[in-house]
Amino acid sequence: MAIEFELTQAQSQIREMIRWFARHEMRPISLQADRDHAIPDDLLLKMKRSGISGGALSKREREEGGQKVGETNRMAVLAVEELAWGDPAAILSVPGPGLGGPPVRFMGTEAQKARFFAIFEEEEMSWGAYALTEPGAGSDVSGIRASCRKEGDQWVINGTKCFITNGARAAWVVCFATVDPSLGRAGHRAFVVERGTPGFRVGRIEEKMGLRASETAELIFENCRVPEENLLGGEDYYTRKEGFVGAMKTFDSTRPMVASMAVGIGRAALEIGQDFFKAHYMTGRPIARYRRIASALAQSQRELDAARLLCWRAAWMADHQMPNAREAAMSKAYAPPVAQRACRRALQLMAASGVTGDLLVEKLFRDVKVYDIFEGTGQIQRIVIAKRLIHNLGRF
Ligand SMILES: Cc1cc2nc3c(=O)[nH]c(=O)nc-3n(C[C@H](O)[C@H](O)[C@H](O)COP(=O)(O)OP(=O)(O)OC[C@H]3O[C@@H](n4cnc5c(N)ncnc54)[C@H](O)[C@@H]3O)c2cc1C
Repeated sequence: MAIEFELTQAQSQIREMIRWFARHEMRPISLQADRDHAIPDDLLLKMKRSGISGGALSKREREEGGQKVGETNRMAVLAVEELAWGDPAAILSVPGPGLGGPPVRFMGTEAQKARFFAIFEEEEMSWGAYALTEPGAGSDVSGIRASCRKEGDQWVINGTKCFITNGARAAWVVCFATVDPSLGRAGHRAFVVERGTPGFRVGRIEEKMGLRASETAELIFENCRVPEENLLGGEDYYTRKEGFVGAMKTFDSTRPMVASMAVGIGRAALEIGQDFFKAHYMTGRPIARYRRIASALAQSQRELDAARLLCWRAAWMADHQMPNAREAAMSKAYAPPVAQRACRRALQLMAASGVTGDLLVEKLFRDVKVYDIFEGTGQIQRIVIAKRLIHNLGRF
């Protein structure tokens, strides 16, 4: 099958609409939201009302088989690039299930999808969250220690999760726990824990270097009892040893999107650099006359274009139900460092004026770092790629 990158007229129109929204609604609030450590509610409401859904499956999509099909991943990577260009923290705060959506979609029963996605069709804003990381288990998710045990028709969860995006505001959280740590991945179970469930509370809210307007929370589970209907996929799912596969499948769909957000941030920095380049003089000459500076911007452009193509390929494969773990990891390994370099070059070009908090480039420089950390660090992506290379070569 040949990869098709041409956008249909409808897709181009949607991208233009999102681009307009990013420029006129998101950009103007970006710096202040960072200072306030919060995205204004009216922007979030506008995003929800414009159909920017944060990954929810609508009733119609559920009725059509419970999976998003067709060009969904590709449209999503296009959309998130634009939205991250608008504001990298706002895109993480969009009302909707967020990272909690894919495990419900991939692992949940039809009844669970209907039950947990329904709230996102209501007028009010709601969020979901994804809680895998723990103080002792970030990259090595097989080492999670949050425990779960079955008592009658309930599960009892104990443990602490950290760095959970939208964790404090979420109506429900997909929480991964283990029946027995010695079983590694085979012991994992995923539960939907609803806000207000006794024994489930929010701990500290992180103060971060970047993405300050995006909420990152610690979540604490103390003898937290959830009904057996909240075990994603039901018990059969785990006897088929698919628990960890479900968690990882989430990443195959979300990593190209996170990578694409990084491309959006890098593009924003590149454009700021270009504008500065056109308008400023150094020792009486337009900066444009200094070719080595121009070549730094050209390098950013080249790398960002390559990163975007990696994202599009991984998303296109997901849309065509092709295994894309390696390609998803490639996009995620490549795009964030490229975006970081684009931010660094723009900042360097602007020198002293770049480092003041009055200009967006300083915020982008801080925001972009996290994109190389969450959804699996760069090192972990390289391991995923290498494992698949070695496996495919069949030499080991
Ligand atoms: C803003 C933000 C939002 C987040 N949101 C969420 C969320 O919503 N849900 C969630 O579950 N988690 C979330 N996370 C957590 C994130 O996924 C983890 O931080 C990430 O997986 C890395 O884990 P760690 O921080 O524990 O680092 P560690 O795993 O302790 O890694 C430390 C260092 O060692 C390296 N390393 C680890 N193992 C290897 C190896 N085998 N080979 C080579 N190098 C290795 C890592 O790359 C890293 O450089 C978020 C994090 C941040 C910062």
